[in-house]
Amino acid sequence: MSQKLESIKKKIIDELVCPLKDEATNLVFGKGNPDADILFIGEAPGKDEDLKGIPFVGRAGKELDQLLHSINLSLDDVYIANILKYRPPKNRNPSMEEIKNHTPYLIEQIKAIKPKVIATLGNFSTKFVLAKFDPSKMKEIDGISKLHGKFIEIDVDGAKFKVVPLYHPAAMLYRPKLRGALKKDFKKINKELKK
Ligand code: URA
Repeated sequence: MSQKLESIKKKIIDELVCPLKDEATNLVFGKGNPDADILFIGEAPGKDEDLKGIPFVGRAGKELDQLLHSINLSLDDVYIANILKYRPPKNRNPSMEEIKNHTPYLIEQIKAIKPKVIATLGNFSTKFVLAKFDPSKMKEIDGISKLHGKFIEIDVDGAKFKVVPLYHPAAMLYRPKLRGALKKDFKKINKELKK
């Protein structure tokens, strides 16, 4: 891990005040290449992630691995992080307060990695990123079913990113019809990264 990312991780351990932290087994910070051109942002760690301290290692992670593999990407090419850094009990949705508490560290991760493309997995990360990292504006953003597969340029304080909202890989586990859309959207990522 880069020194910058190490120091952000240490800050979460030392500074973040959040009840989720007390209940969790591990901090789930991120994985992959700190110099990647593309950053994937999920929602929150699940049970497997909490136990291992690594994002996307459970069922949704297997699906994400396959989707990445389908466009010839590996962990050497991408970085993967989450909105929440600790698991919410019973995998419930993140609360607005948790999002506000945890995302300052995600913003620091984004600034350290400086990705060209941010791929948001599911509604929470899509809304957070398209609200230009301002949780209070998330409710103004459309849902994932409208936005998936579109490349949307954002400028946050002079830093430009291309954002591509994607269905969350966990969603296709209970809505198999989404698999086709996800596969199609991933192909577009491949094209974008080659530009
Ligand atoms: N779902 C997420 O959003 N993140 C993980 O790390 C695992 C499952």
